[in-house]
Amino acid sequence: MSTARQARFIDPFEPREIRRLVAEFGSPLLIVDCERVRTQYRQLQEALPGVDLHYALKPLPHPAVIRTVLEEGGFLDLATTGEVELVARLGVDPKLCIHTHPIKRDSDIRAALARGVRVFVADNPDELRKFVPYAREAEVLLRVSFRSPGAVSDLSRKFGCDPEALLTLARRAKDLGLCVRGLSFHVGSQAPDPGKHVEAIEACTKLLAAARREKLGPCDTLDIGGGFPIDYSARAPSIGYFCAPIRAALAKLPKRVRVIAEPGRYIAGPSAIGVASVMGRARREGRWWYYLDDGLYGSYSGQLFDHARYPLESLKRGKVREPAVLAGPTCDSIDVITENILLPELDSGDLIVGRAMGAYTWASASEFNFFPRATVVSVNRTPGDRGSVLAIL
Ligand SMILES: *Cc1c(COP(=O)(O)O)cnc(C)c1O
Repeated sequence: MSTARQARFIDPFEPREIRRLVAEFGSPLLIVDCERVRTQYRQLQEALPGVDLHYALKPLPHPAVIRTVLEEGGFLDLATTGEVELVARLGVDPKLCIHTHPIKRDSDIRAALARGVRVFVADNPDELRKFVPYAREAEVLLRVSFRSPGAVSDLSRKFGCDPEALLTLARRAKDLGLCVRGLSFHVGSQAPDPGKHVEAIEACTKLLAAARREKLGPCDTLDIGGGFPIDYSARAPSIGYFCAPIRAALAKLPKRVRVIAEPGRYIAGPSAIGVASVMGRARREGRWWYYLDDGLYGSYSGQLFDHARYPLESLKRGKVREPAVLAGPTCDSIDVITENILLPELDSGDLIVGRAMGAYTWASASEFNFFPRATVVSVNRTPGDRGSVLAIL
């Protein structure tokens, strides 16, 4: 790395920089490193050449992440009117966006169309009917369900049409005068292996061909969803290794089929860390309990909703470490982050850092008990940007 580059970019995950950012912006913090967003995006793009990556806003709907993805040549995956309005405020070209929530109100469809978003997802006849008034502007991807009991969250349980029922649904779409752009699926987040993606791609390859033979629509897009896994306390396979069988399955698609993906976690997860401060401590039953200013109702909500376990560490180093408890700030007894972590003796003001906390953390945090959500700070937005607070949403 050249000195010029070192002078411009900072590593906000280094202890010295973490302390500096907390001194400047307070605690709790979520520090988003746009340089890591770029790295994650590039790694996934390299693992899936030719696939258009639509960043799914849901895990971290933050302008800095969105802008960074767009600067890398990426696209966006929106699911709600709130997300549509957010990208409209940022001046994003709606042609780069698709709307992938399978269940929408008429008002959601109209809001998206009014902003110029034209590609939607549907998975059942009732939903298709909602598009009849907009048949000239809107196009649909039909979402197919491939159950994935092994994934941390099986997103095909709640949404998606059975593969066996798909052609009937596509015929219905055609009868209603709708344009079937293609198929989509989401096998579930933090997939343990690429098996489900491969199975789904192979099934969709056949379904696309069958739908095209019947002239049910252009059927020239396959959306392979998200689910790409990252390292938490447990390691995930490298993205190149994970995607190799997916690449092989995609290679069998006809050349005219455009392939897109909807990564969320893979882009956002490793790109942010959570920083919390010890508010106070108590010795209970032979152990230190440290009470932090962030917890399960805040950024650590991902431990509940997303079943994630973040790698935790104390910024204070000490030779003697003993088992301790880390608790969140609220008065609720479930608000405990971990009951068994080896830590040096800490005191009020000492910092605890959670790694890989970009996805499904701050996004699902509440302000229960009036403990505010973490302040989000993004750094390395552009060369020379040394941390700007974004009070947003
Ligand atoms: C949540 C979601 C994503 C992102 O999934 P990851 O597993 O975080 O990559 C993509 N598409 C849809 C439709 C989603 O609901």
